[in-house]
Amino acid sequence: MQVTDRSGWVALAGDYKAFPALAGNIKTDWLVIGGGFTGLAAARRIAELHPSDRIILIDRRKLGQGASGRNSGFAVSREMPGAGELDKPSSRAAYLAQAEIHRAAGAEVKRLVTELKIDCDYDPNGYIFAVRERPKFKGLEERAKAINELGGDAKILDAAALKSRLGISFYNHGLWLGGGNALLQPARFAKGLIDTLPASVEAYENTEAVKIVHEPGGGATVALRDGHIRAERVIVGLNAFMPRLGLKQGRVFPISLTASLTRPLTPSEEDAIGRAAPWGGLCPIEGGATVRLTSDRRILMRNTAEYEPDGISATMLAKRRAWHEMGLAHRFPFLPKDAIEFTWSGHMCASRNWSFVFEELSQGVFAAGCYNGAGLARGTLLGKLMAEHASGETSPLVESALRQERPSWVPTGPFFTMIAKMRLAHELRVAKSEH
Ligand SMILES: Cc1cc2nc3c(=O)[nH]c(=O)nc-3n(C[C@H](O)[C@H](O)[C@H](O)COP(=O)(O)OP(=O)(O)OC[C@H]3O[C@@H](n4cnc5c(N)ncnc54)[C@H](O)[C@@H]3O)c2cc1C
Repeated sequence: MQVTDRSGWVALAGDYKAFPALAGNIKTDWLVIGGGFTGLAAARRIAELHPSDRIILIDRRKLGQGASGRNSGFAVSREMPGAGELDKPSSRAAYLAQAEIHRAAGAEVKRLVTELKIDCDYDPNGYIFAVRERPKFKGLEERAKAINELGGDAKILDAAALKSRLGISFYNHGLWLGGGNALLQPARFAKGLIDTLPASVEAYENTEAVKIVHEPGGGATVALRDGHIRAERVIVGLNAFMPRLGLKQGRVFPISLTASLTRPLTPSEEDAIGRAAPWGGLCPIEGGATVRLTSDRRILMRNTAEYEPDGISATMLAKRRAWHEMGLAHRFPFLPKDAIEFTWSGHMCASRNWSFVFEELSQGVFAAGCYNGAGLARGTLLGKLMAEHASGETSPLVESALRQERPSWVPTGPFFTMIAKMRLAHELRVAKSEH
């Protein structure tokens, strides 16, 4: 069966504003490259700080419709610590430093949703890490205790509590994590940010940066398909696409994720899940599934993470959709096979040591990105903080972001491709019972 790559979130978000393409030779005070959460937040903050400057925002496709309109909509404010992460003083300190950024990131999403009145089904009631098999839950009780000792809000849920909350019997062990964690419709959030961009931001779509020449006196000249932009200051919000422009090569790499969204549940299907309130479920081990019951009563299913730098072909997409059908059948056996309405893929950006990018690459050229699958909230915050840093402003949060460990080295080329594919395939195999 032919499957068209179409983000359900974007398709259901309503009509987007259209912006022209940019061509010719242009001079500007500020250029923001990439119109996802990072670029949108950066452009908004620059406009607030420099009301009379020229600010150009470009995206090679449509604003807000890359990963920012394709993700699963978990706004992370309280990150689950990794196994053993809180035990060693060094990794505990790193977790606590990142926790500060996460908390501020979740709060920034909430602030924008509230102040800009963005209608995106924002739900601040946390989400659940859940598994079917007990060994995959190893250490989660201790982690819940540690989170609570650190002032967090975690609760262990047994099979009965999970059944009553989620309306399905698939999961046996769960950990609910609140503390500011939220769920939302990501494309509607991004669209709300686009619709409320300050008037001084000149936005352009279908405008691809093909080359960045770092200028010795500061700033850069950015070549477009048809022309170039000479900018005094540049903020790069390209996330997984940084290496394609020669930035952060050997430090960050793309991971392809594929998701499906069903049509709305019918009344009898609603009965089958006891008319459960919307929820979001994550797997505590790498390679497990992400599942949501959305506010508009659809099911989101994502159960693959792969190293496919060239993207997911139509044939591959059809196969991934079949895996989503299987994941749905395990959890919602009453759903017919053709319940899926949309299937899509997108690139998230990863680094080997789970660190993000927040730095001045050359004088006047700044980059924020690579959030290891948690960029909805972090991109929204770090785009804003980068605009402040690039403006010479500082704050404890900017300082904290600058102090974080940088992405560590990863090899490039065929050897890396082979290792990355093997590692991710292994993770998917280990997590099979959780698909
Ligand atoms: C399926 C999926 C599920 C995810 N789930 C979650 C989740 O639940 N929670 C979470 O926090 N994160 C999640 N993520 C990750 C999250 O989507 C990203 O971290 C986030 O979108 C990063 O925002 P960004 O603005 O930095 O990058 P992006 O959203 O990737 O935006 C980059 C933009 O740059 C543009 N661009 C690329 N190249 C060029 C160029 N040469 N010139 C001009 N423009 C260019 C792209 O078109 C794109 O619009 C998920 C990602 C995927 C794919």
